[in-house]
Amino acid sequence: MTDVLARLRELRSGDLPTHGGRTLAYVYDSGLSEVDEIAAAAHALASSANGLDPTAFPSLLRMENDLVARAAGLLGGTPDTVGTVTSGGTESCLLAVLAARDARPDVASPSIVLPETAHAAFHKAAHLFGVRKIVVPVDPDTFRADPAAMAAAIDDSTVLVVASAPSYAHGVVDPISEIAAAASARGVRMHVDACIGGWVLPYFAKLGADLPPFDFRVPGVTSISVDLHKYAYCAKGVSVLLHASAELRRTHFFASAAWPGYTMLNPTLQSTRSGGPLAAAWAVVHHLGEDGYLKLASRAREAVERIRAGVAGIPGLRVLGDPVSTLVAFTGSDGFDLFTVADEMKARGWYVQPQFAHGTSPLNLHLTVTAANHGSEPEFLADLAASVEAARAEGPVRVDPDVAAFVAALDPETLTAEQFGGLLAAAGLTGGDGLPERMAPINALLAAAPEPLRERLLVEFLGALYTPSPQ
Ligand SMILES: *Cc1c(COP(=O)(O)O)cnc(C)c1O
Repeated sequence: MTDVLARLRELRSGDLPTHGGRTLAYVYDSGLSEVDEIAAAAHALASSANGLDPTAFPSLLRMENDLVARAAGLLGGTPDTVGTVTSGGTESCLLAVLAARDARPDVASPSIVLPETAHAAFHKAAHLFGVRKIVVPVDPDTFRADPAAMAAAIDDSTVLVVASAPSYAHGVVDPISEIAAAASARGVRMHVDACIGGWVLPYFAKLGADLPPFDFRVPGVTSISVDLHKYAYCAKGVSVLLHASAELRRTHFFASAAWPGYTMLNPTLQSTRSGGPLAAAWAVVHHLGEDGYLKLASRAREAVERIRAGVAGIPGLRVLGDPVSTLVAFTGSDGFDLFTVADEMKARGWYVQPQFAHGTSPLNLHLTVTAANHGSEPEFLADLAASVEAARAEGPVRVDPDVAAFVAALDPETLTAEQFGGLLAAAGLTGGDGLPERMAPINALLAAAPEPLRERLLVEFLGALYTPSPQ
């Protein structure tokens, strides 16, 4: 047993660090080592239990109801508020769309209205559930949804209006009240995607931040998603989807008696559901408690304020919009390449996340700041300033003209595996040693590709990555 665990540790040592605040996307670190231990122990206690049948495993039912109650308490819930624990933010968003669609069987071709800054989970929902998406441009300076444009986009086919608190890309909160009022006036459901902000913004407010309400206190808000594996600092695999009433939730439940086995009865997309992530989240949430979360929010808030101010003070960098949460996106003025800045940060031991230009949002770098960043802000900012200088010295990224020509000739509709292989070869990516140290040339190539081609190329890349290991 020690052998396989040693091997696992060795494999894990090649990953980005999940602790210490050096990975500013994907991971959320409280900086408290006991949180991990408690989560791991609780996970082990319940991972063999199956949420498929809550009457067989009442502990899971109890823990789920406890977590939903906590989330509702944090997000302005009423005695009518109900919820469901899901596997993550995407599943919560999918279920909000599914519930809205299936509540309106009278609408022949249902649609959802969303700002262009809404999370890609809603595009996935539209794709999976055959719902049309009406994507509304946001304010080009603030990146916040435009309530008048959102209102104008609602029509008789609209089954759900979506807004973010905050948006992942820019960390800004949409004008929830105005949008909810417009949705409510048309009798349409309104989902607030608080996947990333829902467990931290309420604490920011308690710490004195001036934040307009974005939760169930706002009339017209019918559902809210909040991820526990983000700012509740729980182990991966837990989110909560809250509904203002049980009636609103019913339509994402699924029952099938149409086979000879047990009647399948599922609140989520999963059927067998591990008790592990749920128990881990339950234990962490109860261990940290209100005081614990308030302290963590205070540390994250100080860290993000310092980082934001520091970024704004680095010549050539500009923070996008007015981020009010724990996220910061910044772009660069001419003279250096942001992908190179990301590579330079990587060389200095930090992961920052490149975000491609889309709509009026320019190419930028995204930072997810957590409590673990508290204390190392000066080091981060010094390395960022040095990375910008290094990128300036390096000059523009050179995309091999042959590779660029190859990509320009590709059609996403007809792209074949052979063509993709040819591209990898042309780009010198066939070594089999994973990704190169410097990602800037590849990112520059992807940035130049139209979105449908970029999506297609990345799907092909994913297929190449997920190839069984030679045994
Ligand atoms: C993270 C996030 C999601 C998706 O959550 P996953 O847990 O990654 O599936 C949806 N919306 C927002 C705003 C998010 O930040």
